Amino acid sequence: MSDCIFCKIASEEIPSKKVYEDEQCYAFYDLDPQAPTHFLVIPKAHIASALDINEGNSMIVGHCFAVIAKVAKERGFDSYRVVSNCGEQAGQSVFHLHFHVLAGRDMTWPPG
Ligand code: AMP
Repeated sequence: MSDCIFCKIASEEIPSKKVYEDEQCYAFYDLDPQAPTHFLVIPKAHIASALDINEGNSMIVGHCFAVIAKVAKERGFDSYRVVSNCGEQAGQSVFHLHFHVLAGRDMTWPPG
């Protein structure tokens, strides 16, 4: 989508600190980290939020989670949190589906 910041990051039109890339997804460090390690995994295809996941595009979500596990193993994380905020009330500020991956500190539950 032409005016989507995460589409522009995935196409490297806007620079980011890349963590991982393949044909289907892109991962990069969050600008405002909430944990010692905090990166985002996004599908390259534009999906606005988790509300827009359906039978036709859900394979990419599984792929994103496989990538998260691969990167976590490579980095030696045995504990991490994956978060996807869906909608403004839940805290979504960028409307391109993304998975926050947070690691390196104790996490509280429930989240605020
Ligand atoms: P959310 O608020 O759940 O939609 O998450 C959006 C995340 O994107 C926030 O944690 C922001 O800090 C992060 N963010 C926004 N713009 C950029 C950018 N250009 N590079 C890296 N992270 C970004």
